[in-house]
Parts: sequence; structure tokens; C-alpha cells
Amino acid sequence: MMLAFDILKVPGAVIKMYDDHFNIIMTAEDFLLEWAIWRMYDLRRRALVKGDEPADISTFDAVVFRQCQNAVQSQIHAEMRATSDRMQRRPAQSNAPVASGSGAKASSSRKNTGGDMLKSITYSCCLVCGSKSHIHDKDVIRKDCDTRWLVFDGHIKAWRTPDTRALICWSWNSIDGCSKAGCRFATTGHRCSLCGGAHGCHSCPV
Ligand SMILES: [Zn+2]
Ligand SMILES: [Zn+2]
Ligand SMILES: [Zn+2]
Repeated sequence: MMLAFDILKVPGAVIKMYDDHFNIIMTAEDFLLEWAIWRMYDLRRRALVKGDEPADISTFDAVVFRQCQNAVQSQIHAEMRATSDRMQRRPAQSNAPVASGSGAKASSSRKNTGGDMLKSITYSCCLVCGSKSHIHDKDVIRKDCDTRWLVFDGHIKAWRTPDTRALICWSWNSIDGCSKAGCRFATTGHRCSLCGGAHGCHSCPV
């Protein structure tokens, strides 16, 4: 720019003024850190060099600099507020589709939640492996769930007793036991799912 001034035959005093102006900015210790403020200061100071009474910008104008500082800082604060507003809104927005419950997916997820709650009241341990850290869910494949006694029948996708190949009564193995009058599993399936004994798995001594 200074070279351009020379070529354009700009008077020496004006070149000196701009030189001083840029030196103030470029040599400021916080120039890199606060470049947004200095950029605004530069724009505002140079904008004064116009019209019938162009200002002398060769000296540092603390007032203009302070104004630029405030403007940049309030802009940063506004951006921070907007960002934190967005962060606070995001969880609510992501919940919205589930809460409004449109389509089969939403209703099935509600049903599953209800089913899970029911299961945790009905069972306090896994019917298949006896673990207390999870309960059996036929739709969930677990690596940490080795069968203790039951065998899985892949054809009908159900658990059977290993000795009689009978289906087990899940109610019998619930916390409250089976109270169904005429339970269809009563004769062969009222056995412990963990050992085959004549008790429910929640009271299994093994
Ligand atoms: Zn298990
Ligand atoms: Zn039963
Ligand atoms: Zn048992």
C-alpha cells in the first residue's frame, strides 16, 4: 500500500500519516490476539480520512479503540449466548419427535418402554443365565448370557428343557410365580429355568 502511495504521487505527509497509523496497529502487542478489534479500529480510523476535513490518523485514538473493543466484545457475547441457547434447545428438539409420537416407530418404542418396566417388576434376574445384572429379552442378543440349563430351539425360536424338550412357563419363573388356572405349561413347564427343579428361578438354590 505504501508503494502504491508513492506511485500515485500521494503527498509525503499523507504517506507518513498512514505509515504511523499502520505501525500503531501492526506493532501492538495484542495485535494477533485481538485482531478483530484492531481490524475494526483500522477501518474506522481510515474511514475518517475523507471529505473537506480529513482527519489526521497518525496518532493512536484511545476513544475509538475503546469503542471497537466494546463492539467486538458485545458481538462475542452475543455469539456465546446464541450458542448456549442452541445447546439448551437441542435436547428438547431431539425429544420432540418421540413425544409427539407420529408413526408406528414411536408407538412401538412407547410399548417397549412399558414392557421393560413390566419385566423389571416381574423378573429380577435373567431366566436364561441367572444374572442379576440383566433380565432376559428375546429381542436382545447378549454375549454375557450363557444358558445355565435351558436349550434354545432355533426352529421355533424358543427355549426348551434339555431333558424333556418341553417349553418352560415364564410366569412360573417370575417373581410372583404362575397363577394361571389351567396353565398350558403346568404339567411339563413348571420347572426352574436355571436347574429344572420344581421351583421358580427366583427361588433357585443352585
Ligand atoms: Zn442372561
Ligand atoms: Zn405356568
Ligand atoms: Zn432352580
